[in-house]
Amino acid sequence: MKHERLSADKPYLVLHEPEPDGQGSEISTTTVFLTASTCPIGCTMCDLHVNTLPGATPSGAITRQIDRALKDSNAEWLKLYNSGNFFDPRSIPPVDYPAIAERCNRFERVIVENHPQFGKRRLQSFLDLVSCRFEIAVGLETVQPRWLNRLGKQMSRDDFSRYAGEISQLGVDLRVFLILGVPGIDVVESVRWTRLSLRHAITCGARHVSIIPARSGHGWSGQAGALPEFSTTMLADAHETWLRDADGRAVVTVDLWDVSVTDVAHSRLQQSNLTQRF
Ligand code: SF4
Repeated sequence: MKHERLSADKPYLVLHEPEPDGQGSEISTTTVFLTASTCPIGCTMCDLHVNTLPGATPSGAITRQIDRALKDSNAEWLKLYNSGNFFDPRSIPPVDYPAIAERCNRFERVIVENHPQFGKRRLQSFLDLVSCRFEIAVGLETVQPRWLNRLGKQMSRDDFSRYAGEISQLGVDLRVFLILGVPGIDVVESVRWTRLSLRHAITCGARHVSIIPARSGHGWSGQAGALPEFSTTMLADAHETWLRDADGRAVVTVDLWDVSVTDVAHSRLQQSNLTQRF
């Protein structure tokens, strides 16, 4: 497993970006990519381990990273992404919850990532400390059972649905990450399964669904060359279909990280990402 040499006192990336609030407005959002312990799940396509620490995250480090990241932030929403699972105690030490919660409470909404295997009791103890709106992002990726298995998610569609129900009962909002495309599958089939996955995520109560075109990188166990290729125009057209399917029940965005900004369809996608109402 490849790791960059990172300091446990510095987030490896901080972004200030607008997010659609679902009412037609843009909300200023700071995303802190925390440097933390490697995720033990090890999904096939995941390349996030590159920016992680090989051992457990030292206590106090996450709070120092958040303070550093928030120095220049006037954002309303905060995303704390730790290249793993927020309720994994090796990644985010529970002893730091009170200090992290104190920082979260300066924001209207805080979004973290978590896998259903981690920390139902720890979720409750964290919720006891926060007064902000809390949202958990879960990487469902796809509802195609064979692909889900091949991705090594260690989660079935039913595990996801159960977890979605549990967090909803606790008053926590749900964000869902879906992947568009896996190696060896064509573009049409990829869009079709993302459509079915989107419907499932919305049925399970997702407030926001973020669709991520599969990208090459350090994941995919050497099969990245067999990924389908999506043009920006194709993505913009597919986004319109997904928005129609969602019919205002959830925010649906397409991740633009690998999309060329010089492409005319890029601004179409950017526009449709940000101006949604439900
Ligand atoms: S659960 Fe998330 S962070 Fe962990 S390996 Fe899978 S995709 Fe990567």
